[in-house]
Amino acid sequence: MSELNLKYHGHNVRLILENGIVNDSWPFLEQNRRYIVITDTNLTKHYGKLLQKIPGLETIFAIKPGEKSKSIDMYQKIVSALIKINIKRNDILIAFGGGVVGDLTGFIASTILRGVEYIQVPTSLIGQIDSSIGGKCGIDFNGKNTIGSFYHPSNIIIDPLLLKTLPTVEFANGIGEMIKYALIKDEKLFLEIENNSVSNSYSNLSELIEKCINIKHKLILKDEYDFNERRLLNFGHTYGHVIEELSGYKIPHGKAVAIGMYYELSDFDIKERLLKLLTQYDLSANFEKWNIDYHKYIKNDKKSTMSAITMVKIDKIGHGKLFLKEFDD
Ligand code: NAD
Repeated sequence: MSELNLKYHGHNVRLILENGIVNDSWPFLEQNRRYIVITDTNLTKHYGKLLQKIPGLETIFAIKPGEKSKSIDMYQKIVSALIKINIKRNDILIAFGGGVVGDLTGFIASTILRGVEYIQVPTSLIGQIDSSIGGKCGIDFNGKNTIGSFYHPSNIIIDPLLLKTLPTVEFANGIGEMIKYALIKDEKLFLEIENNSVSNSYSNLSELIEKCINIKHKLILKDEYDFNERRLLNFGHTYGHVIEELSGYKIPHGKAVAIGMYYELSDFDIKERLLKLLTQYDLSANFEKWNIDYHKYIKNDKKSTMSAITMVKIDKIGHGKLFLKEFDD
């Protein structure tokens, strides 16, 4: 078990990483509080009974799975329902799900009644190594993550055993984000993913999750609000977000980032190794199709306010560096 106290500006976040920590007795929850769960219908199929055992459970909202639920409509639906059940400022929301549930719940928590407490219980690999950490939350509106806030959960509870029910293809999407950490900060992690078949039964999985969390946490400590070093975490995302949007969100986030990293890289040898890895983890299907002039889309999107964008350069695995890419007219 690992328990970390993540200290950000004005927020203390308790992070527990432990196999089996999410169980019928919900040991990390406080007694005599009212809990409201936001999850999705894939998760209620697997964990409906477990969620019913939450002490002080008021209700469970199960949204339709997928990126399309990270929407203003879903935000409005849930907020309306919360007001209907007379949510109070000392109620606690629990985000039980992947990055979609986590981002949406965090945003609801940050805005309803000017902010209520929430707990992240991430159930996907992306959720456990990335989206639950760092307080970024939001929804898509005329573009990816266009409305949102920085709002930390009080607790992040990571139970790798929850990944046992995660479909293989979703696990692979998480490997996309894991490769990102490896490329920007950790060559050993890259070698481990390259030389092994990392799956939900991989013996070292908890350690890999912890490595990724530590990389993210260290970057956030240096730059909580994403003006500088934290932007290393955006490697593959500039291109990846274009892929997600152009595909109408049919290409999932992790895969879009994986393909995005390939096209953002300029070093030939690293590109080759990455492509091998993407093939090994079934992330490379139709990747040639996305060899597009993505600058065009970024320009259209951002040109009104800027003439350059911060991107990540990797000349050596584990050593990502930020650089300013100018748009040429
Ligand atoms: P997701 O939430 O859509 O989950 C992927 C799929 O896996 C869904 O169908 C879900 O129902 C299913 N699932 C999740 N856990 C499961 C489990 N244990 N058992 C069975 N099925 C399970 O997507 P995701 O890949 O987890 O996250 C992607 C989202 O996260 C994107 O919206 C992305 O923008 C966001 N994200 C946010 C941050 C951040 O810092 N806030 C970082 C990275 C990604």
